[in-house]
Amino acid sequence: MPLETVESTSNIKAEAVQIGNPAHADFLPLSLPACDNATMATHHRTCNLCEANCGLVLEVSGRTIVSIKGDENDPLSRGYLCPKAYGLKDLYEDPDRLRVPLVKQDGSWREADWEEAIDFAAEGLHRVQEAHGVNAVASYVGNPSVHNLTALLAGPAFIRALGSRLRFSASSIDQFPKMLSAYLVYGAQLAIPVPDLERTEYLIVQGANPVVSNGSLMTAPGMKKRIRDIQSRGGKVVVIDPRRTETAKLADEHLFLRPGADAPLLLAMLQVLFAHGRVELGAAEGRVEGLEHVREMCAQFSPETVAEATGVSAADIERIALEFADAPKAAYYGRIGTCVQSYGTLASYLIDVINIVTGRVDVEGGLMFPNPAAPLSSKGHYKKWYSRVRDIPEFGGELPVATLAEEIETPGEGQIRGLFTMAGNPVLSVPNGARLDAALDSLDFMVSVDPSLNETTRHADVILPPRHSLENPSYSAVLLQLAVRDVAKYSPPVFEPSEGSMSEWEILGGMVEKLGELRAQGEETDRATGMACAYFSADPQTVIASLLASGPYEVTMDDLLANPSGVDLGSLKAGGLDRGRRHDEGAIKLGHPEIDGEVSRLRDELTRGRIGEVSFAAGGSDPDASFVLIGRRQLRSNNSWMHNCPSLMTGGDRCSLLMNPADAGRLGVTGGSRVSVSSAVGQVDIPVELTDDMMPGVVSMPHGFGHTRPGVRMSLAQDFPGASMNDVTDDGPTEGLMGNGILTGVPVRVVASESP
Ligand code: SF4
Repeated sequence: MPLETVESTSNIKAEAVQIGNPAHADFLPLSLPACDNATMATHHRTCNLCEANCGLVLEVSGRTIVSIKGDENDPLSRGYLCPKAYGLKDLYEDPDRLRVPLVKQDGSWREADWEEAIDFAAEGLHRVQEAHGVNAVASYVGNPSVHNLTALLAGPAFIRALGSRLRFSASSIDQFPKMLSAYLVYGAQLAIPVPDLERTEYLIVQGANPVVSNGSLMTAPGMKKRIRDIQSRGGKVVVIDPRRTETAKLADEHLFLRPGADAPLLLAMLQVLFAHGRVELGAAEGRVEGLEHVREMCAQFSPETVAEATGVSAADIERIALEFADAPKAAYYGRIGTCVQSYGTLASYLIDVINIVTGRVDVEGGLMFPNPAAPLSSKGHYKKWYSRVRDIPEFGGELPVATLAEEIETPGEGQIRGLFTMAGNPVLSVPNGARLDAALDSLDFMVSVDPSLNETTRHADVILPPRHSLENPSYSAVLLQLAVRDVAKYSPPVFEPSEGSMSEWEILGGMVEKLGELRAQGEETDRATGMACAYFSADPQTVIASLLASGPYEVTMDDLLANPSGVDLGSLKAGGLDRGRRHDEGAIKLGHPEIDGEVSRLRDELTRGRIGEVSFAAGGSDPDASFVLIGRRQLRSNNSWMHNCPSLMTGGDRCSLLMNPADAGRLGVTGGSRVSVSSAVGQVDIPVELTDDMMPGVVSMPHGFGHTRPGVRMSLAQDFPGASMNDVTDDGPTEGLMGNGILTGVPVRVVASESP
């Protein structure tokens, strides 16, 4: 296929122009040091700090980043960038960033050389596996590893070589329900269609805030402009969320929805579609199995029956469902809020079903499957085995991280005694982080591949810090599988590797080699390390080149090197239902006993006036103090390490509890005063921020804060510690089908704080 020319983007302004906007008054531009232009070099680079994949233009002088701008020639982001991009410079220069390995000796850290540290790490993990079995060492991988080519390619190979089936990741406090729905419906866990934002005319956004996230499982930088484009071509955007989010404020309509009540709302919308004869399969005609089953499943969920539970009126439910069905081009998009809740998979499945039965899948302006240049194929599996303590099924070879603490704490055959972590801080990111914090202390041995001495890695016996990503090549192999436009972008390293530094590829390749030396010849683990050693003998660029060669375009690494802003492969293309590994003959399967079970559970709970752990019925012993907690994403934060970036921490304390003024009046608290938020597992103190953007009865905390624990080396973050939302969220209840962590819809009690 010929490569399309990148069209001119000079009319599209980078988000950086908002520096002067009062709404971004705390967004300060980089202060640029004076420099000698003769030494300046320009580099094109894809930002890897979140999922959006913005193209950047970096001016560097020696090893100093002098400026960071949006790349107007980038075929996906077209000049957009957000304030987080400056975090690249902050992190590169961060004096707290670890640059040499640390080994813990007698409870204190000492610096070590790479050979000693890698040997120490491999020997420690091997010792635990020798003594207690291969599954006694578990792994946890955080989401930055997906944004980072060397970690992305090295991590899974190392974990396979480790041989343990006890794998955990941030996916099980995030998008796993969407992936399980894709696995059930389309037959592959990565068969996730994305809204065709370039052509849709009616977009529903539920439980997502893409104006801040710039898309998630929908790589879509510059969402503000994309929303305005939909509106300027006569389309409509509707947001359904317990908070009037930044996206909702740009939308044409916003409906408050009770936290966790997505599934009943979606069932009622489906019921409306069947009752009003709006079922039309379009491109999915002839592929759908189980349509009658869905009709029966939703029949009892009329809008009237779910109005109280959802907080959305029956009239609005019916109107929005019919508007969606009648729009010429429409896409229904649900994300984090629909996932990290009791009915995460059911809600994700129902959004898939609404798109399918209204003929929105695999058509322009609806939901389409990207056709990436470097395709990754992952069919996945489910229920092949179950967790030891709580009997929760694996999904895609992983257990939910909400079970990690109990698997460490609970004695017996199969107990976790060693841990490998990479690019993660689960103490702050998983439900009941305090419990995990304590559990990590009991491990026999722990290795962290991480540039930060943070709330999690402080428990490690050895920290192996990879070099900064700007010293590595970049290709966003996973996130371009989910982009709203097909593009391919590769960037060579911006800087030569710092002296004595190692990439994740080199660190984990070294650990595999050492494990191979230690393992008994002929054993299964020895064969696993042998295969991994062969893999690590290549390099990341070669792996990407071979993926490109397997892809649908004639794009080579040379093409990408000749087009540093990226290669435009065009708008999303129909035919995705026949691409990739799917159910046989591209079938779309809607009938599943697991889904039926969740619908029954929901029906029972609704009759008892509750959804998950939350009661929606009036009353209760202490109604004035009972709230439902939800999380929120902030524009200048994504992961906890960003709280150590000076350019992202301007503007004071952002860790506040959003609350509706009417609720505050009932509690007798004022804006800025501190409150105590408590749940079944913990309590935090936090200042209140009053806003009628919050649905009454619902409060919101940002995630990733709570830098109060000792032994952490993140000085700026510790100056603005905030409180960890996950000291309140509970790891007891989990999502119904695969145990995803519940981070929204958490019942809490809020009272005026007694702390000064
Ligand atoms: S939206 Fe994400 S990818 Fe784009 S500049 Fe911001 S952090 Fe980087």
